[in-house]
Amino acid sequence: MPLSSKLPHIGTTIFTVMSRMAAEEGAINLSQGYPGFGADPLLLDLVGKYTREGYNQYAPMAGIPQLRKVLAEKTKLTQGYFPDPELEVTIVSGATEAIFSAVTAIVRSGDEVLVLEPAYDSYEPAITLNGGTPVYVPLRASDFSVDWEKVSAAISSKTRAILVNSPHNPSGYVWTEGDLEQLAALVRNRDIYVVSDEVYEHITFDGIRHISLGAHPELKSKTFVCGSFGKTFHVTGWKIGYCIAPENLTAEFRKVHQYVTFSTVTPIQYALAEYLIHPDRYLSIPGFYERKRDVFVKGLEKTGLHFSPSQGSFFQLASYGHLSQVSDRVLAERMTRELKVACIPTSVFYSDKRDDKIIRFCFAKEEAELQEALRRLGGLGSIL
Ligand code: PMP
Ligand code: GLN
Repeated sequence: MPLSSKLPHIGTTIFTVMSRMAAEEGAINLSQGYPGFGADPLLLDLVGKYTREGYNQYAPMAGIPQLRKVLAEKTKLTQGYFPDPELEVTIVSGATEAIFSAVTAIVRSGDEVLVLEPAYDSYEPAITLNGGTPVYVPLRASDFSVDWEKVSAAISSKTRAILVNSPHNPSGYVWTEGDLEQLAALVRNRDIYVVSDEVYEHITFDGIRHISLGAHPELKSKTFVCGSFGKTFHVTGWKIGYCIAPENLTAEFRKVHQYVTFSTVTPIQYALAEYLIHPDRYLSIPGFYERKRDVFVKGLEKTGLHFSPSQGSFFQLASYGHLSQVSDRVLAERMTRELKVACIPTSVFYSDKRDDKIIRFCFAKEEAELQEALRRLGGLGSIL
């Protein structure tokens, strides 16, 4: 019996496709976003310690209390508010799960959900699988800031939620206080929830600071803040993250979470709870990544590509429309096969696959690897 697909338009993600091609071609992989270096050995030792000490059975559904508490303390220190660890903080299996569970908790059949694009690829399937309809609003082409008039025009009586992401993947744009105020004004007096993807919260540059929607006096009552320890501590494969939301939203969120995964990997929760006690372990991250961003953009200047230095995340966009009209997918493929440097074509982040001739690089790599990639990119002219 043929299974009729609930997601007929979805194939294999571009991240899998490009990482596979990079491996086949022996290319430097600046495509899929993951760090090319290890985590702090101390954190790894803690995981070893807790597995050996027998912390290997199911964790509490909402996460171990120690981790929820230390996460609330981190939130107080970095964002100025203290979510109730018992009632407002849930540990989940990665930000992807946080986003999926939040969307599932709020979106009903027939609801519309605003998505600002370019957008991360997991948002749309989460909405569609719950019977919702994504309504796309383009970010400004010039700098990927939010065009609030367009967002306002997209709101209808069916709008149930808006999905937002800052620091933004793929552009690196970081929301300003003004952006938060604009969003607050739009959802004021309306039954619209906000799912806020803040996985790059600790990766911002040039003194720019990430402002969590959870820290906003009005937005906090309507927002699910989704975060990822995998991103923050260079362990994306651990798939561990969190959701912070007010008590009534958290109650609904947990009803979903307890049947999506029930709970999240126990020894890693204990390890993170101990590791997070020292704030310098996350406060040092912006500087660490800013050095990599600087190395990468300095080299990129010599390639002929156009770009503005990323404000946050570990991604750098670059445009090549002034040099060639080849499609971004073809260019990404040629770069991987011929220059041996893989990147992501950004058309994949748009619902209509619009091609603005922009590619995305991940600079979360060792400096030597970045330098070698930049050297190879010197040959760009030969494949355009
Ligand atoms: N949102 C964005 C914008 C991301 O780039 C990622 C990274 N993979 C995720 C969510 C998912 O995070 P996690 O790996 O913790 O599920
Ligand atoms: N977030 C990562 C990126 O944007 C990829 C994660 C994944 O492969 N699903 O590259």
